[in-house]
Amino acid sequence: MTTRPVTRRSAVLGITAAAAALAWPRLSRAQSTARVVVVGGGFGGAACARALKRAQADLQVILIEPNAVFTSCPFSNEVIAGLRDIEAQQFSHDKLAANGVTMIDQAVTTIEPRLRSVMTADGVVMPYDRLVLSPGIDFRFEALPGYDDAASEKMPHAWKAGAQTLLLRRQLEAMDDGGTVAIAIPANPSRCPPAPYERASLIAHYLKTRKPRSKVLLLDAKDNFPQQRLFEKAWKELYGDMIERVGLSQGGRATSVDPSTKTIITEFGNYTPDVANVIPPQRAGRIAEAAGATDATGWCPIDPVTFESKLVKNVHVIGDACLGGGIPKSASAASAQGKACAAAIVALLGSRAPETPRLTGICYNTVAPGYGFSLAGNYQPRGNIFAEVEGGATSPVDAPRELRAREATEAERWFETITADTFG
Ligand SMILES: Cc1cc2nc3c(=O)[nH]c(=O)nc-3n(C[C@H](O)[C@H](O)[C@H](O)COP(=O)(O)OP(=O)(O)OC[C@H]3O[C@@H](n4cnc5c(N)ncnc54)[C@H](O)[C@@H]3O)c2cc1C
Repeated sequence: MTTRPVTRRSAVLGITAAAAALAWPRLSRAQSTARVVVVGGGFGGAACARALKRAQADLQVILIEPNAVFTSCPFSNEVIAGLRDIEAQQFSHDKLAANGVTMIDQAVTTIEPRLRSVMTADGVVMPYDRLVLSPGIDFRFEALPGYDDAASEKMPHAWKAGAQTLLLRRQLEAMDDGGTVAIAIPANPSRCPPAPYERASLIAHYLKTRKPRSKVLLLDAKDNFPQQRLFEKAWKELYGDMIERVGLSQGGRATSVDPSTKTIITEFGNYTPDVANVIPPQRAGRIAEAAGATDATGWCPIDPVTFESKLVKNVHVIGDACLGGGIPKSASAASAQGKACAAAIVALLGSRAPETPRLTGICYNTVAPGYGFSLAGNYQPRGNIFAEVEGGATSPVDAPRELRAREATEAERWFETITADTFG
């Protein structure tokens, strides 16, 4: 995170904390058009900021994100398995800035919904008419005793892409042939439910080609997972008995860890693998809680038509942080939500009724180079959540290898398209 002195630009946008103690000025309608502040420049926030500016060019759109370069989780499992460089995962926000979005490279530290303003780490206060939160996830360390940021340096989660992704890759590279890689998988809701199984597959691919006497052990807090039959068929076909899974009812849920010995303690027994990839239980990004937008689940309830928080007025929540119901926490969903939220905000600012969104998401899983499958869904508001509606599709379990190869290529094309659409 970078902390800059208050620049002329930040002084124009807001005021410092010291001045804020005296007054929190707001632009009046006569002075300016409406201002929308977006927190988080990942798949949801960047898509939303861009769509807001496209829909209404004279809107002031401010995107606040501490990282100058965003590192994408989709396709980071390929980086772990040595199939891709981390640079291929990295995207700047320069194009958004060129398209009129004001970028602030800071973290938001405080949100004052009553005053309709946010404050960044450098003490600048910015008023808003509407606020969009897309902070992704944070971890519920309290739900996994022994695990914290320090433990993640020994037992990486690699569930936020970047340094953690590279750490897990280095640990795999350093492991001797014949070693065991354990992946502790949390219960739902969590970011991208199929991704742990894709990770297990690609790690098995790495081991099969470089350290064939090794094993992958999944310690799972769930009994069932998305596209299970497709994964299990592929594992048997490609990796024999290299991948072993202990599900919830067999005692697979991790209950604590001991980072000093790299031990994962489960309901059934203790495991001390050579490489321990521990994915902790999750909740909405911390700033959502600071805004008062989370409920007892740790996630943010929303009105699925407008994405407005059920708990805080004029604050909208999109992406992994929101309680989306049937819609999975994915980049695909975050991007679709970002665009639909932008349309709703433009309608609300113009005193028009927002349209009911219909969101489309697709999730690809790559289990080896040239071997992929997918799950597509359509979602519409039902009550306070999104429910899946007709028109979804999953890859068939029995399909020729040509189809698997085609879907692996489509997965790469999907990644190029969504990143170009969001950051390009
Ligand atoms: C291994 C893995 C593989 C995945 N593969 C896929 C896939 O193939 N397809 C798919 O669709 N999805 C995939 N996902 C899921 C996808 O990465 C997430 O669902 C998606 O990134 C969610 O978007 P978001 O905007 O909610 O959060 P993010 O994209 O994580 O963006 C959140 C941003 O908010 C910023 N932020 C947080 N707090 C603050 C603050 N206080 N102030 C300012 N900024 C802040 C963060 O720095 C971050 O840049 C995968 C996830 C993982 C872990």
